[in-house]
Amino acid sequence: MADPQDTIEIDGRRLPTVNAPPEEETSKGPRRKFLSVHYRCCHAYGRLYRNAAGTAYEGRCPCCGAAVRALIGPHGTNQRTFRTT
Ligand SMILES: [Zn+2]
Repeated sequence: MADPQDTIEIDGRRLPTVNAPPEEETSKGPRRKFLSVHYRCCHAYGRLYRNAAGTAYEGRCPCCGAAVRALIGPHGTNQRTFRTT
């Protein structure tokens, strides 16, 4: 059901998602969902975890601690790798 045209809002900016193999399959049952993210600030990779309300994925850069949020769009969000701005 993945729609390659989905977008994810990061810090208020809309970005096209990047098609990339997910790090982890979702079909194995309930497990904590996350998105892989590339932090441009430090050229580091990390993960965003879905917040309690299920409205966004949130995380922090492992290097500088910069907060990143990816709002979950109307079409839902699958695990994808994308880049911050
Ligand atoms: Zn950083």
